[in-house]
Amino acid sequence: MNKNTFHCPLCGWTPAPFMPEIGEMPDHCPNCLEGRHDQREDGVECGGILKPISIIVEKDDSWTLVQRCSLCGELRQTRVLPEDNPVMLLSVAAKPLANPPFPLERLEQMQKLAGVRGSMEGYYHEEEK
Ligand SMILES: [Zn+2]
Ligand SMILES: [Zn+2]
Repeated sequence: MNKNTFHCPLCGWTPAPFMPEIGEMPDHCPNCLEGRHDQREDGVECGGILKPISIIVEKDDSWTLVQRCSLCGELRQTRVLPEDNPVMLLSVAAKPLANPPFPLERLEQMQKLAGVRGSMEGYYHEEEK
């Protein structure tokens, strides 16, 4: 395949002519941020679809995309490319906030406790004594 004609088999996206040329063949689609899981870490062929699940903020504030394979569940990290769809990146980064792994009532309880002392810091000091 020509490395400059990227075509996403998952969402059908091809870069518009006005977009900067994609220098290297990306391992994920800059539009849907998904990719094909060719091979697992143990060398077994997979063929699942890598779905974007989260963002890691690196030491230099650059972003790394975390993907999970829909088939085998393996996690993979991939460098965020300048061509990547910023709307998709933000929605991936916001995903855990939209669906927290704890009941939201707990958050309200903690806020009430913190309210007694005026701040969370006061709350923790009370615990240490
Ligand atoms: Zn795509
Ligand atoms: Zn897989």
